[in-house]
Amino acid sequence: MTVLVAPLLFIGCPKEDPPARPRATVSSTARPKTPAPAVVAEFNGERAMDHVKKQIEFGPRPPDTEALAKTRAYIVNELKSYGLTVSLDEFTDGTPQGEKKMANIVAEIPGETKTLVLITSHYDTKFYQNMTFVGANDPATSVGTLIEIGRVLASRKEKPKVTYRLVFFDGEESFCEGWSQCGDAESPDNTYGSRHYVSQLRTRNEIENTRAMILLDMMGYKSLELGRDPTSTKWLQNIIWQTGRELGYGKVFVDREEGVGGDDHEPFLGAGVEAVDIIQLTSYPHWHRADDTIDKVSAQSMKIVGDTVLASLPKVAEYVIKNKAQPPSKPSKIQE
Ligand SMILES: [Zn+2]
Repeated sequence: MTVLVAPLLFIGCPKEDPPARPRATVSSTARPKTPAPAVVAEFNGERAMDHVKKQIEFGPRPPDTEALAKTRAYIVNELKSYGLTVSLDEFTDGTPQGEKKMANIVAEIPGETKTLVLITSHYDTKFYQNMTFVGANDPATSVGTLIEIGRVLASRKEKPKVTYRLVFFDGEESFCEGWSQCGDAESPDNTYGSRHYVSQLRTRNEIENTRAMILLDMMGYKSLELGRDPTSTKWLQNIIWQTGRELGYGKVFVDREEGVGGDDHEPFLGAGVEAVDIIQLTSYPHWHRADDTIDKVSAQSMKIVGDTVLASLPKVAEYVIKNKAQPPSKPSKIQE
């Protein structure tokens, strides 16, 4: 696949250098007629890596622990320092370990319309009784990337066409060892935060306005390769994969199928919200192991995904605005 993609980069890529005309002809004293564009931040992989280090320093971070409370305070403070409005979506839910207090973190970048596009990650780590699990890639890299995406979006002076919300979910991981070992279809032992957030969107009559949900989960591995989750919404996945390839990351955004089995995008798909999971699961050998540590992840991988998501957002906004007249899609069938 990647061999076929390479030549296309030269045909269709608008991100290549612009024509040299202005630089070649404008004299040093001439002032450009258009004002200089406002200074906007660029995604910085090193900053994302700093957020990864901070999270790991807090230790294992399962729901309703001191370490996760510290992580939450860190994320909230970072987002606020960029000038974003941040709120907590707090709730309590029954788990195989009893009642747990959880909180999703929500930051909003207001747009010209109330049409919502969510960019998301979970921020809890999986509970282990007898293992120190710090989750460098699961989920510290997706959290670090999402914080950095927030900084970039906050730095932009112009209002986006749609409203973006960054949502950091609590309680994605199951408390029992296996994903669906405990709980049942009515109340699964996983995706606590995303299920609660979907219920909040319903309560506030926002579900029909929520036109796309982009989930980042385990996308910071040094040997980054992102296959396609078959349950994700095709048009949304296609925009992101195509954009990644246009940016020169054809070897990262590949077409092989990535079996996921369940993640925070599922409750959204079930509610008729179109959603995509950007995840490297099957080829990440350190998944849910004590060696999911900082040496396995890289600033470069986070920048690849951060830049690709940021470059995809205007196209996603354009798509959802163009298709505004359509009712929300029917709930996608979750493939067995
Ligand atoms: Zn996990």
